[in-house]
Amino acid sequence: MIKQLAALTALIPAMLSPTIGVAAAHSAPHATSAVVTLTYDASGAGQWADPIKQAVQNWNAAVHNVHLEPASSGASADYVYTATSGWPQTTLGPIFPGGSGEVQLGQQAVDEGYDTTRIAAHETGHILGLPDDYSGPCSELMSGHGPGTSCTNAKPNAAEAAQVDKNYAAGGPAVRPHRHQVVIDIWSNRVPAGAH
Ligand SMILES: [Zn+2]
Repeated sequence: MIKQLAALTALIPAMLSPTIGVAAAHSAPHATSAVVTLTYDASGAGQWADPIKQAVQNWNAAVHNVHLEPASSGASADYVYTATSGWPQTTLGPIFPGGSGEVQLGQQAVDEGYDTTRIAAHETGHILGLPDDYSGPCSELMSGHGPGTSCTNAKPNAAEAAQVDKNYAAGGPAVRPHRHQVVIDIWSNRVPAGAH
């Protein structure tokens, strides 16, 4: 009896393993996902680290066709965040993998009283191909400085998320632009000096 049990026990793994192999092959995810992964390097962004993290999180939660993630160390990123002393300025995308976008997070916007997470999320919106819309409401990210310093919304609205999903639909266009415009954002509602 003991001998029979032992023989049966020895048989079970042999019988199970082919079954497990087939099951695993069937449940494996299909490698046909069209989600574009964009990598970024925020190592030179200093005090903007947390606002960037939150801005990226907000975008990733809102869109489906593109996903932002930090580049693994040593790998070249698709776009870079840096901290500067000037006005924020950003490459107007959509940036695709292998691209070279740059987000300059300018201290002057912070000095004017604007929310750092909103600034980081707005500038990231340019990387994803959204233009400025300064006359828009606070609920819109790309209205930037328009609604004033009291506006701290750092999430894209539904229309903005839909436009980004469109920009990256089906993995993006086959022909991608090589040259990109740079958008300079003057985060200020003050009348420029000398403009009387
Ligand atoms: Zn802008």
